[in-house]
Amino acid sequence: HRAFSGRDLRKTYVTGATEVHALRGVDFDIRKGEILVLLGPSGSGKSTWLNIVGGLDRPTAGTLHYADTELTALNERELTRFRRAQIGFIFQFYNLIPSLTAEENVRLVTDIAENPMEPEEALARVGLAERRHHFPAQLSGGEQQRVAVARAIAKQPGVLLCDEPTGALDSQTGVRVLETLEAANRELETTLLIITHNAGIAAMADRVFHFLDGQIARIESNSSKIKPA
Ligand code: ADP
Ligand code: ADP
Repeated sequence: HRAFSGRDLRKTYVTGATEVHALRGVDFDIRKGEILVLLGPSGSGKSTWLNIVGGLDRPTAGTLHYADTELTALNERELTRFRRAQIGFIFQFYNLIPSLTAEENVRLVTDIAENPMEPEEALARVGLAERRHHFPAQLSGGEQQRVAVARAIAKQPGVLLCDEPTGALDSQTGVRVLETLEAANRELETTLLIITHNAGIAAMADRVFHFLDGQIARIESNSSKIKPA
């Protein structure tokens, strides 16, 4: 079952008289339920690729499909609807609203989603049912990021896009965040697309895309990954 396929995707940023070729023609297929990690030096095009795949930005050229939908043929309204229905975002910094409790932060998403789970269930899935009435400032960094994961999975998206999800955490709290992502992949069949420098995350990937200078220079399959039964 296919999640995404991209053909000859290109992105050129034009700033004044300068052109930056952030993506120089990339091709890929991603299976539904796959865990994919994006590695590569700063400026190699990973964030540009993630934003395009997540419907936050558009390529300059090329075609992109999600299942049977050609995303590159959608208008703005249709693309926004796709993003709201199918994509959950997790960033390095948790972007929680400080004046709302954990549960209220999750409810912001579930109130407008088409097929949400209960906020309490989402928080239970990340191990924070007991802390649902806490405010962000009363939670550790790792717990705040797990609230962000709960918020992202609560609308039951097909795909989670994660940009350095453990970048602000020490390795132990980072592992707990990763466990919540892996559980979403296993129990909800969520496709995970993750930008990271963390070798532990790369080890849990089904495949690693190595970006270099606006291209996917190498695709590595992790055949030794142990899939839970
Ligand atoms: P990475 O995520 O691998 O660090 P990016 O996709 O952020 O790479 O950047 C790829 C290239 O595109 C870099 O040269 C970067 O400076 C440039 N770039 C990214 N976003 C913009 C933008 N909004 N405007 C102009 N140039 C950009
Ligand atoms: P909505 O679901 O209201 O359409 P968006 O799809 O625009 O919201 O964004 C999804 C999530 O990603 C939101 O939490 C938004 O704040 C966040 N977001 C969007 N673009 C960026 C970005 N460039 N950097 C960080 N966060 C972003």
